[in-house]
Amino acid sequence: MHIVVLSRNSNLYSTSRLVEAIEDAGHTATVLDHLKCDIVSEEDNPCIFYRGTKVTGIDAVIPRIGASVTFYGSAVVRQFEMMKVFTAVESQALVRSRDKLRSLQIMARSGVGMPKTVFTNYSTEVKKIIESVGGPPLIVKLLEGTQGVGVVLAPTFQAAESIIQAFHSMKARVIVQEYIAEAKGEDIRAFVVDGKVVGAMKRTGEEGEFRSNLHRGGTGALIKLSDRERKTALIAAEAMGVSVAGVDLLQSDRGPLALEVNSSPGLRGIEAATGKDIAGKIVSFIERKVNARASNPNYL
Ligand code: ADP
Ligand code: GLU
Repeated sequence: MHIVVLSRNSNLYSTSRLVEAIEDAGHTATVLDHLKCDIVSEEDNPCIFYRGTKVTGIDAVIPRIGASVTFYGSAVVRQFEMMKVFTAVESQALVRSRDKLRSLQIMARSGVGMPKTVFTNYSTEVKKIIESVGGPPLIVKLLEGTQGVGVVLAPTFQAAESIIQAFHSMKARVIVQEYIAEAKGEDIRAFVVDGKVVGAMKRTGEEGEFRSNLHRGGTGALIKLSDRERKTALIAAEAMGVSVAGVDLLQSDRGPLALEVNSSPGLRGIEAATGKDIAGKIVSFIERKVNARASNPNYL
């Protein structure tokens, strides 16, 4: 098989591990920068040109699309779909996962536990918003934020009020969320591939930090998930339609709460914490799907 990794940088850990895993399985790997792909639309003949050359003979793509280039990146993935190339994460799922508000609505509908969250369109009823999530301390999150940037803990009523007002005055969209104090600056990253948790780690924030993101100095350690945690991660990934997903969970007094589903989850932290070949699991998933498609032309 010939598998494309859509990535802006082939030196990134996740990208180079995927290339390694593809080659270890006896396939050919090519890294294409999605921003350098030209999308050519023509009746009955969708194609992609890469630096002037037509891209052909591809069996599958693994999208590694950064949040800042979701629009163009997902269009490239969609074009591969139109060329009948299998994608490890569908373009629709990718776009869905990048919209925090839509993600929260979808996860809520799926019935998984989640922190109580409010979104308003620059409402002036700030006091009511604060009360509706149970009062301070609470979390204010920038809708466009990622890797923990734009996630603020407001310890008091006054702090919450000024933070929300400040964001509103900048026309920044925020969600206001119940603070899960019992999580104690830790969260769980469950790595889901094709309806199975293939690895999980507990991430702990730096001393005095409530955010456990690895990009914010957090560290990851192997954890065995409870049945409920495993189920929550699987339902959240399934509801979002993300086949290769990094699901973030908080451990609360009322059980696991889903925070978000990442559609380009990093491999470094999870492979280091679990000692597992997660990249290899992604490649095996692609093999299963591409082979199933080959033996049944009606297979989606
Ligand atoms: P991002 O998408 O920027 O990573 P998250 O919503 O995942 O934003 O939040 C970043 C981190 O902050 C989480 O990994 C978690 O450790 C902490 N956190 C987020 N929401 C809450 C909450 N409601 N209660 C307690 N901690 C939280
Ligand atoms: N892009 C990384 C991921 O989705 C962020 C991980 C982190 O900051 O913890 O896995």
